[in-house]
Parts: sequence; C-alpha cells; structure tokens
Amino acid sequence: MLSDQDRIFTNLYGLHDPFLRGARARGAWDGTAAILARGHDTIVEEIKASGLRGRGGAGFPTGLKWSFMPKEVGPRPHYLVVNADESEPATCKDRDIIRHDPHTLIEGSLIAAYAMRAHVAYIYIRGEFYNESVVLQRAIDEAYEAGLIGRDACGSGWNFDLYVHRGAGAYICGEETAMLNSIEGKKGMPRLKPPFPAAVGLYGCPTTVNNVESIAVTPTILRRGPAWFSALGRPRNVGTKLFCISGHVNKPCNVEEELGIPLRELIEIYAGGVRGGWDNLLAVIPGGSSVPMIPKSVCDTVLMDFDSLREVKSGLGTAAVMVMDKSTDIIKAVARLSAFYKHESCGQCTPCREGTGWMMRLMNRMVQGRAELEEIDTLEQVTRQVEGHTICALGDAAAWPIQGLIRHFRPVMEERIAQYKAAHAAAINQPNRSAAGRLAAE
Ligand code: SF4
Repeated sequence: MLSDQDRIFTNLYGLHDPFLRGARARGAWDGTAAILARGHDTIVEEIKASGLRGRGGAGFPTGLKWSFMPKEVGPRPHYLVVNADESEPATCKDRDIIRHDPHTLIEGSLIAAYAMRAHVAYIYIRGEFYNESVVLQRAIDEAYEAGLIGRDACGSGWNFDLYVHRGAGAYICGEETAMLNSIEGKKGMPRLKPPFPAAVGLYGCPTTVNNVESIAVTPTILRRGPAWFSALGRPRNVGTKLFCISGHVNKPCNVEEELGIPLRELIEIYAGGVRGGWDNLLAVIPGGSSVPMIPKSVCDTVLMDFDSLREVKSGLGTAAVMVMDKSTDIIKAVARLSAFYKHESCGQCTPCREGTGWMMRLMNRMVQGRAELEEIDTLEQVTRQVEGHTICALGDAAAWPIQGLIRHFRPVMEERIAQYKAAHAAAINQPNRSAAGRLAAE
C-alpha cells in the first residue's frame, strides 16, 4: 500500500483549502525557481529518468514525448496544451485534481512549458466542468498576482502565460489533434499523423499535449527526485496513479495508489469490496470504456499497470475501474458503450463512421438475442476491420469492448440467441401470420 508520505495529491478529497495558501502549506510552489534553474534539458532528462508514463490513457513515456520538441526556438513559438477534456466514461480523476488541487497543475504547467521552451500553455477543459473551470481560473489569477506565473515567473526570468480554454462537450476533442483544431476554432476532428504535434501542432507550431495528471505530478517528481518516483510500482510501470473506482462496489471512490497494485486489493481496500462479495463479481472494465473487459477469473490475480493489463488483452487506459456484479446484463452494458462510440464518432473516416453504427445496431439485436449464431463471428470480423484502420483511436475504442465481450462471454451471447429462438419458435413456425401479428410477437 502507498504510504501517506508518498502521496502526491494530498487534497484529493477536497478536505483542505484548494487555493494558494493551502497549496503552499502542502508543498506546492516550493523551490520552483530552483527547479527551473536546472535548465530545460536537465528537467526533460529527469522526467525521462523517473519513468513517468502518460496518465491520459496511452501510457507513452512523458519525458520522451517532451524530448521530441525542437531544442531551439525558431520563428514558430512552442506551445504546451494540457488535456483536461476527461470525457472517457467513468473517469473523474483530472476533475478532482482541478477542483481540489489546481496549483499542482499550474505549477506543473510552468515547469513543463519551460522544459519545452514554451512561453504559453493552454488548459483545454471539458465544457461540462464549469465549476472546475471557475476554480482553475481563480487559482491561475492568484498565481499571476503572486508572481508565480506571468512575466518573470517565480523570479526565474522566464515569461509564462496560461490560458483556460473551455470545450463544448465532444468526446473526440480529447484526442490530441482534434483538441488542437478545437482550440484553433475549427471542428474538433482528429488530424492525420504525421506530422506529429511536436513538429506541426497548435497554429502550425511545435506543440506537446499532455494529460492533467501527467503534468500535475511533475513538480513533486522534480522536488523528490526521479529515483523516488521510479522506486514506486513495478519496473516499466512506476510511480503513483489515480484510480477511479465505480459501478457495483460498496464505496465508489478516487484513490491514489502505486501502479501494480492487485485489482482485488484496490477494490476491497478502497471501494469497500464488490456488492454482495468478491464471488458476486462478473467482470471489470479496468481502464475506462475503451479497453476490453476482464472476467472475474482474471480479476482474481491481475495487477493494475500498463504491462500486466496488456498481457491479459486489456489495458490500463485512464485507470477508471468499472465493476460489474452478476446482476449485470453484460451484453446490454457493451451495447450501451457501442451507442456511445457511434454517437461520438466525428465521421470523417469510413470504417469508424459506418462501423460504429453497424456495431451498435448488431449489438442492440444481440441484447435481445434477435440474431443468428454466425453473426457473432460477423460482429467480431467487423471489429477487426475497424480496429487499426482509422485516423484516430476512437475506432479501436469502439471495437475493443465488443472483442472483450466475445472473448469472455460468447456462451452468454449464444444462450441469449437460443432463448430468443425458443421463445419465438411458435411464432416463427406458425404459417399465415399477419404482419401485425409478427410485429407484436417481436
Ligand atoms: Fe473521426 Fe472515428 Fe475517424 Fe477518429 S476514427 S477520425 S472519430 S471517424
């Protein structure tokens, strides 16, 4: 278990003052100028050495991402964009960082922007997070007033401006290039890559997009040292992580823990256990709605980190743990996700635009059992044709929950089809039925 002195977010539950006075009492803005004085490249190297992997879902090494930015500033300015869109279903960690500990993010933004030679950063916050955006703006205003950001930030000689940009509630704007388009005032549609944002990003300039949590942990890493951070967790999966636990547990919660904690411990220690006991567990979606579910037999032993979850054909994603007990209609749960992805597809590439609708309609029939057995294979093939054939990862995100369902719960789908056939056998075999009668039977 993570000890209290190793927690980065010490006001996660909002029990203390979220603003500057309280943040300073918790250690924020302590020695920030000295951190900046280490120099741009040293900070990047230290974040690399810490082993921090992006906390937004993909798990890409943060320091390495920063190192892709040009080492010299040419005619095009550099930008940092902080992704606070947080639209992944069941994910609510960045929201709590912003409303309860916004100075961790503001200080992290200054340090990250300085490391990448950016004088300007944007925090792109989900439009529905209105109250959070108010808290964030107030914290930014007080940081300006205290000279922590703005001209000569923290007395470092570096000028740094930070803007809050509110989105309008589209899931796809959480994709980094769609986010850049949205900030530019265009439709929030993902761009083809390459070029990557580090070469051609916001307004055509070198840009890095990082998740809120990735940025908010950097001041503590640099204060306590990369070795401290990398000693937590498991090799290649180091540090602490915010987990959001929801669904059929006794006490849904957000909690900071070490990467690599067993899933069962996470649920039983922090979320009060599965409703009705561990044996009442059916399945867990461990990383937000975009990753495949895992059945109880896997949940018994799996560790919560990037590599362990990939080995069981799932993923850590945003570490939003959705727990489903045996009362869950697992087919209906996945059909609901299919409807979500169909609704959120931006529609610019054919496999996603057509495939998400196709998958949703077939999943809706699977909920009723109104399908043929062979259509389970057809559905699987469609997911394979969408996966990896789209501009952005939304296509994969729509395909993977269905693949997880078929991988682990195919017998349940087959049984549903058999039940439907049995219930409707009389109606199906009855000759000379009127059309109205057939409809009523369905
Ligand atoms: Fe848009 Fe879907 Fe293509 Fe992504 S995969 S660019 S959401 S159509």
